[in-house]
Amino acid sequence: MLNIGCHLSSSKGFTHMGKDALSINANTFQFFTRNPRGSKAKDIDDDDLKGLLKIMNDNGFAPVLGHAPYTLNPGSANPRTRGFALEVLKDDLARMERLPNNFYNFHPGSHVGQGIEKGIELITEALNSILTSNQTTMVLLETMSGKGSEIGSTFQEIKKIIEKIKHGNKIGVCLDICHIYDSGYDIVNDLNGVLEEFDRLIGLDRLRAVHLNDSKNPFASHKDRHEKIGEGTIGLKALTDIINHPKLRHLPFFLETPNELSGYAQEIRLLRDAFFDFQEI
Ligand code: FE
Ligand code: FE
Ligand code: ZN
Repeated sequence: MLNIGCHLSSSKGFTHMGKDALSINANTFQFFTRNPRGSKAKDIDDDDLKGLLKIMNDNGFAPVLGHAPYTLNPGSANPRTRGFALEVLKDDLARMERLPNNFYNFHPGSHVGQGIEKGIELITEALNSILTSNQTTMVLLETMSGKGSEIGSTFQEIKKIIEKIKHGNKIGVCLDICHIYDSGYDIVNDLNGVLEEFDRLIGLDRLRAVHLNDSKNPFASHKDRHEKIGEGTIGLKALTDIINHPKLRHLPFFLETPNELSGYAQEIRLLRDAFFDFQEI
C-alpha cells in the first residue's frame, strides 16, 4: 500500500487532523508543531491526543511528521537566534514524545555569511545538545533548495551534519522532491543516479520520508516554490516513478502542494491510482 498524506492545519487539534486525513484517504499527515513563525506552542490536550492515536492505530497509519517552524536557525551567527532555535527544538522534541515513534522534520538552517563549514558546525552542535539516547522520535533533516545561504541543499552537506551526530540512530533525512530538483538533482531524467549518489554519501537507510511536490521553477533554479502534482516542471511521470521506485515505495510520502483539502484528496486519489500495488494482484 502507498503511504501518503499531506500537510494539514493543526489549528483544530490532533484528533481533527486524524479525521481530516481519513476524509481524504490519507494514512499519514504532516503538521506544524506550532505556529510556523515559532511562537509558543499550545498545551497538548490528552483526550485530543488519544483521539488521534486511536485513529492512527485503527487505520494502520504510517508515522506522522511534525514539522519545525521554518524560521528557526540553529546555524545563525547570532547567539540569541541560536538559543531560541535550541529552546524551540528541545520543547518540540519533548512534545513529539507524547506521540511516540513518529518523525520530526526540520530545515537544517542557514550559515548567513559565516560559510558552510561554520554553519554545519553550529547545526551539529545544536543537534548534539538536544538528541538523547532514549527518545523515540526520529529527527529528519530536510533537503533544501539552496536559496540564500541555506545548508542542506547537497547530499554532501547533509552527510557532513549526520556524521558528527552523537546519537546517530536518531537522525534521518526527509527528501523534498521540489527542493532537490531546484537544487540541481535531476530526478526527472536520472532518478537512479540521484538515488545512487544519496546512497553512496548518506546511505538510503537514512531516508525515512519524502516531501512529494512538483516545482514551479526550472531545474537547478535554487528557488523553492512548490507546484501541484503534475502541473510543474517535474511532472506526473517523474513523480509516479518516484512513488513506485523499489528503493522508495515503502516510505511515507507527504504532499506540500498549494492545495486545500479537496485538492489534496484529488492528488492522493491520482497517486494511489498510479501506485503499482503488488499485493492487489
Ligand atoms: Fe519544510
Ligand atoms: Fe518540504
Ligand atoms: Zn519548500
